[in-house]
Amino acid sequence: MDKDLMRSSFSRRCDYLLILRVLILRRKNPKKWRVLSKLQSHEESRGPGTEAHEEMEAVKQYLGSLLSLDQGSAEALPKVCGLIDVNALESNPPEGSAAIYETACLLEHRCVANTRYSFELDEQARPRINVYAVTDIKKYVELSILVELCEGDHLSTTYTHVLWATRVRREHLLATKYFSCRCERCADPTELLSAGEVAQLTDRLGEEVDAAMSAADKDIMSDLLFRLTVLLHPCHQHCLTIGHSLMQLLPADDPKKAELCQRMIDTIALVDPYGARLSLYRAIALRELSMCPGQDRNELLFKAIQALRYEPPHSASGLLAKVILAEI
Ligand SMILES: [Zn+2]
Repeated sequence: MDKDLMRSSFSRRCDYLLILRVLILRRKNPKKWRVLSKLQSHEESRGPGTEAHEEMEAVKQYLGSLLSLDQGSAEALPKVCGLIDVNALESNPPEGSAAIYETACLLEHRCVANTRYSFELDEQARPRINVYAVTDIKKYVELSILVELCEGDHLSTTYTHVLWATRVRREHLLATKYFSCRCERCADPTELLSAGEVAQLTDRLGEEVDAAMSAADKDIMSDLLFRLTVLLHPCHQHCLTIGHSLMQLLPADDPKKAELCQRMIDTIALVDPYGARLSLYRAIALRELSMCPGQDRNELLFKAIQALRYEPPHSASGLLAKVILAEI
């Protein structure tokens, strides 16, 4: 999943479908196109020599004969690809589809967001987005009754992966959204206690992590995690990636399992305090911890269900909530 996010690739057909739909909308519905075309598309940063330009050329080739029917569409293609890349959200359900939401896409980015969103299908089976503000008063407030928030508060979401380290998040944001994040988490030299990296070394370790993840073997993962924690902070993204899988592979009576679960829960409390993006990670860690000896099983399972309470019922998270409910 992380690799897909890093590449933001245009290789799948559903991506071509969205491009086609926007090109058709441009011709058939000038009013909506005017609204859409006012969103940022960053064409100035997507010229020849960039990955975005290569992807756009691939689209042009794929849609070749269709584009040749309409000169205007061919000319609008770079802008359309930019609009989609910069503004579209992957909606769920249905799995893998993407959409641009006129208001929701205006939410600013912060690496610790104060809104969360979920999707539900409307009567025409289109994924409708629901955005909730999560505030310091620890209360979820529907965006539509924004009046309850303090005047001047900015609403934010996260355009990148919350568990990634600062350098990786910032590189990803610069490469795909064309800005350098300067939020409080990025400005924190301790990276909310998860810092301490040297670029080349961590990249090499990242390759080892990828290899261990595809092997999915608990002995390989345990060995790598031991080596990683000698070099990196235990809350570094590489340790957490391995830890997330390893905690699910270790038997309940292995004390390492409880330790990994607790570390994941504590880290999520720091980087995603309002449950904006990592509710599935949190629920999995709570459930795995509930299996370990000496834990209050029912309390942890209850907390896991609480973490998933806003997830759509047919998503992976929604299905996990049902499994956990049956376990209580
Ligand atoms: Zn940031």
